[in-house]
Amino acid sequence: MADQTPSPEQLTQVDYGPKGKSWLDPHVEFRKGTYCYSAAPKNLTYLGLPNPRQWQPFDQDWKLPPDWKDIILAGMKERLDRYRSFRLFMDICVRCGACADKCHFYLGSGDPKNMPVLRAELIRSVYRRYFTAAGRLLGSAVGARDLTEDVLKEWFYYFYQCTECRRCSVFCPYGIDTAEITMIGRELLTLVGCNINWVIEPVANCFRTGNHLGIQPHGFKDSIDFAVDELEEITGVRVDASINRKGAEVLFVMPSADYFGTPHYYTLLGYLALFHEIGLDYTLTAYASDGGNFGLFTSHEMIKRLNAKVYTEAKRLGVKWILGGECGHMWRVLHQYMDTMNGPADFLEVPVSPITDTRFDHAASTRMVHICEFTADLIRHGRLNLDASRNDHWNVTFHDSCNPSRAMGLIEEPRYIIRNTCRTFHEMPENTIREQTFCCGSGSGLGTDENLEMRLRGGYPRANAVRYVRDKHGVNVLACICAIDKATLPPLLEYWSPGVDVAGVHEFVGNALVMKGERARTTDLRGESLASAKEEPAHA
Ligand code: SF4
Ligand code: SF4
Repeated sequence: MADQTPSPEQLTQVDYGPKGKSWLDPHVEFRKGTYCYSAAPKNLTYLGLPNPRQWQPFDQDWKLPPDWKDIILAGMKERLDRYRSFRLFMDICVRCGACADKCHFYLGSGDPKNMPVLRAELIRSVYRRYFTAAGRLLGSAVGARDLTEDVLKEWFYYFYQCTECRRCSVFCPYGIDTAEITMIGRELLTLVGCNINWVIEPVANCFRTGNHLGIQPHGFKDSIDFAVDELEEITGVRVDASINRKGAEVLFVMPSADYFGTPHYYTLLGYLALFHEIGLDYTLTAYASDGGNFGLFTSHEMIKRLNAKVYTEAKRLGVKWILGGECGHMWRVLHQYMDTMNGPADFLEVPVSPITDTRFDHAASTRMVHICEFTADLIRHGRLNLDASRNDHWNVTFHDSCNPSRAMGLIEEPRYIIRNTCRTFHEMPENTIREQTFCCGSGSGLGTDENLEMRLRGGYPRANAVRYVRDKHGVNVLACICAIDKATLPPLLEYWSPGVDVAGVHEFVGNALVMKGERARTTDLRGESLASAKEEPAHA
């Protein structure tokens, strides 16, 4: 952690009291540690996005286009006409307050504008002023505000302090999804060139090379070859991981972090071991080399642009169906938007496991199956030889990543896999898991260092629940199925709950999987000795 990072004692002194000014006052202070840097002009230019220029949020002059207000209001009108959900969410909130204390950023900061209801009011107040008769006539008396530069700056501050996690929507009696309001808010800001580099640079990279990191095809191949070599060193088994192979039955798409970051990389080793062991006829692709899609944090149009490559590659390679790896926002896009935006995928077949003959009818439209569904089905049919004692050095808890749990209902499958591959598992408190899970605090493109204080504040409720099971049960690893989680939870836990590692679920699969012809394993996939395995299993 950087020296200037406040201590845990300082960050837990949260003031939830009134702040002494009207919520209609838009003024915000861009304090170091609580906001993200602006998008670099070269990235906006590359993507053809408006108003590329040098600026930073703390500048007085944001160098907006002269007609910025007209652009925003026209953009709002267009979206109110196009998205019924947006218009509905602008109209139906009754300010019951059920969502108020459900946002991790409010819990960690005490800032009332991080209450989901008030976050939405930031844009709703402008909607009232320009799109409702009451707002036009009565103004601030009915909570309407003029669109000013200060309001725009306030939008930027708070729509980039929302991780689009949707926890608040679980508690709203009307199902208002503040994440969707944030998405529209960011989309409007993008129309006048106000966006953050931590989102736009990966988007530009993805548009250029197919993955967020900008890795070119030969770099992708090198990474996969390296993983194949390393897996052989650990298991004695040489696996084949083909790339761009036409005629394979299945296309496998994963987040790029799986082949370039840790602990993600151990998840990749787990996939490779699994696919080899069951003899899956699959291929990777060096073009759709990232299922992740930061377009989700930019605009609906950008989601579509970046995601098109998945179906394009499936068609080019002539596969029957698609399998997807452990990722959060990737799956929100694939599950909720891909069919509408990039489909129909009628050139693919409804996925059927070639090993168990299970037909995944729920994937009939997308033709894409989550790796946890696929593996849980293999286990259920007794098709894997698993030695769970090889994970005895892990005392596991599971973090439901926001998107797989809330956006696609993938809750039981990862737990089923963990319980079959690990002998020690403890759940965190009920109101912090499953649909009610707390965000890592760094999702939706906010996982950047300049924003660290806000990440630590927003991640506190998650980390606090981890600390609870660490202290009560001796938990030493937090499992998850999201690439952003795997990147951002390690520093979060180091700060709030030291001694707890982070791992992907398929890392446990790779450890436990007894492969035909393997040599006796002396290490896990991390290369750590298995000698300290425990005797007693414990499930809670
Ligand atoms: S819970 Fe729903 S209706 Fe109630 S204040 Fe929040 S967004 Fe509005
Ligand atoms: S979507 Fe998540 S981060 Fe955004 S307001 Fe709701 S709870 Fe907070």
